Amino acid sequence: MYDKDNIFAKIIRGDAPSTQIYADDYAIAFQNIAPRAKTHVLVVPRGEYTDIYDFTANAPADAQAGFWNAVRKTVEKLGIENNFRAVANTGAGAGQSVFHFHVHIMSDERFKTDF
Ligand code: 5GP
Repeated sequence: MYDKDNIFAKIIRGDAPSTQIYADDYAIAFQNIAPRAKTHVLVVPRGEYTDIYDFTANAPADAQAGFWNAVRKTVEKLGIENNFRAVANTGAGAGQSVFHFHVHIMSDERFKTDF
């Protein structure tokens, strides 16, 4: 179940600080507080969805289109169109720690791991 007091909900409401990269009606993007790559930004829809499964199953079409448009805008703003990873950890067992859907956008000169 969605917890309205999760840290990303607080950032969206303006109740917690963040270093913002991009924002529009559908999503915000901000720097990860503990980056795992030279560039590590989180893109977060404004709607209340716990993970990518919940979001793609339940968010209205305009919210989904708006979110992915915000991902693209964020990537363009960062200037990493041709060199980034987009990751959505889903479930605690897969490493999710904040249960408000978000996509990690990570870029580095050279990644140390391959999937
Ligand atoms: P997850 O593990 O859920 O896929 O990703 C959550 C991410 O949120 C982690 O990479 C973590 O560093 C980041 N994070 C946790 N708390 C905060 C915070 O208060 N501010 C920001 N900017 N990032 C956070």
